[in-house]
Amino acid sequence: MLMDPTSEVLDAALKYADMGLRVFPVFAPTPSGCCTCRQGSHCSSPGKHPRLRGWMTKASSDEKQIREWFTKYPTDNVGIVTGGPSGLFVIDLDGEDGVKSFEDLVERHGDVPPTLTVRTARGLHLYFYSTVPVRSRTALFPGIDVRGDGGMVVAPPSVHKSGARYTFEAGAQIAEAPTWITEQVAAVEIPDVSPHPTEDHSADDDDSHDSEIIPEGERNTALTCYAGAFRAQGQTFQEIREQLLIINAKNCKPPLPEQEVEGIARSVARYKPNGKRQRIRPDENKLFWVKLEVNKILGDPDIRLMKEEQRGWFMFLLLEAWKAGGTLPADDRSLYVLLGCSSKQRWKRMKDEVLKKFRREIDSEGNPILVLDWMAETYAEQLNALNQRISAGKKSGEARAQKAAASKKGAQAASGAQMEAASLTA
Ligand SMILES: [Zn+2]
Repeated sequence: MLMDPTSEVLDAALKYADMGLRVFPVFAPTPSGCCTCRQGSHCSSPGKHPRLRGWMTKASSDEKQIREWFTKYPTDNVGIVTGGPSGLFVIDLDGEDGVKSFEDLVERHGDVPPTLTVRTARGLHLYFYSTVPVRSRTALFPGIDVRGDGGMVVAPPSVHKSGARYTFEAGAQIAEAPTWITEQVAAVEIPDVSPHPTEDHSADDDDSHDSEIIPEGERNTALTCYAGAFRAQGQTFQEIREQLLIINAKNCKPPLPEQEVEGIARSVARYKPNGKRQRIRPDENKLFWVKLEVNKILGDPDIRLMKEEQRGWFMFLLLEAWKAGGTLPADDRSLYVLLGCSSKQRWKRMKDEVLKKFRREIDSEGNPILVLDWMAETYAEQLNALNQRISAGKKSGEARAQKAAASKKGAQAASGAQMEAASLTA
């Protein structure tokens, strides 16, 4: 055979494929920590990003395809697709923070079965299977990211830009995730979120959180719990934020930075109170003005790197998404019809970059949708403000009407009095 028999990456890639996972080549870093992609030292993600456009669909578990890739690019890193039908998701523990957060979770919720674990340059990757959809999320807890739907991981024996290799730490098999883990990370439902007090609690606690002390390491989880409960009661981002800030100041020892608290409120406020997003029908949209932050678009390298045509599509999809409150239908057909795209093939070839900014989610009716988080948040906030203005307008309208009625009565009374006075003087 002409293949390089010593290619460790190829062997590993074939092994992952054997496990039923889909793999693809990833640009490797150079020894000096630059990227082997065209961006070189300007690359924002050296050694970590896919070589192929459309990797998510091109990724393969076909031996012939994998041999072809890694023979053509023998020094590449190898990536594994997470999420989707594979059911694979990876918990990414970054640095000591991540490991500590995870230990806290384990202590709180229960054990973790032995599972395939990879040592990364700064932490660990824990591989799990899930029977429920798991979406990709960053900073779910301090130092913990989750790679699920739409995501990927760089796998052993790939090289990190620091020069360190990804290596196997433990476990040859990928375990089914215990329920508590999927509950913490899965996309399906926000876990049941009645505020729960911390374990080592004095007995004099009542329902109020006045006397609870939330120590370091539990603050994020506890505040997230409260936020979820407030959200389930239908509270808005602002309301949740205010309450969390009070709890944070009163109970967290030491308090979390205000920004972090705000982040918790924001991420929880994304959920509809029942845990799932309701799509707004475009014709129901009451907000005609899109608030676009120029820097968010022009400053985003992903958007700048799009081809002209892709950028055009992206901008158009932004406007379409606004009409539906920050969401889009997730199927190709709807999207390319929406865009009036001339070729389905062309759309399929170029869509990955265009859709990169959107996150997959299941709406309240069980349909997959694409969500642009910042837009959905802005939309919810503006709609809320609009509704408040409308109800304030109604109130002041009523007040005006009352006042007008009152002054009319007054005028009548006054003119009556004048007439009386006139008749008296007459
Ligand atoms: Zn690169």
